Amino acid sequence: METRVMNCIMCPMGCEMQVTIEAGKVTGVTGNTCPRGLKYAEDEITAPKRMLTTTVKIEGGILPLIPVVSSAALPKDKVLACAEALRNVTLKAPVKEGDVVVANILGLNVDIVASRDME
Ligand code: SF4
Repeated sequence: METRVMNCIMCPMGCEMQVTIEAGKVTGVTGNTCPRGLKYAEDEITAPKRMLTTTVKIEGGILPLIPVVSSAALPKDKVLACAEALRNVTLKAPVKEGDVVVANILGLNVDIVASRDME
C-alpha cells in the first residue's frame, strides 16, 4: 500500500488530497471537496491527462499567433507531441473562437480549437 499527496487540478480550489493506492489502483481518497477529486486521482494514477493550451501561427491576422486549446484532456504523455505537431500549422485569418484548427490531433479523438477570434 502506498499513500500519495496530490492536488486536484479540476477547479481553482486545488484541494490537497491523500490518495491510497494498492496494486496500481486507488483505494481511498481524502481531502477532496467533491467527487471530481476522486475521478482525478483515479485518472492520475491509471491514465493521467492534461489540457493543451498553446499558440499557432496565423497569416493575415492582427497578431502573428492565435491561442488554441484542446477540446478535451489529452493523454499526458502525448501532450508534447501534440504541441510539436502544432508548430507546423499556419492558419489564415479570419478565424472564429471555437473553429477547429486541427481535427483529431495525432488520432487521439481530440480536436484543437481556436480560443479567440482573429480578424
Ligand atoms: S476535489 Fe472538487 S472542489 Fe476540490 S479541486 Fe477538485 S474539483 Fe475542485
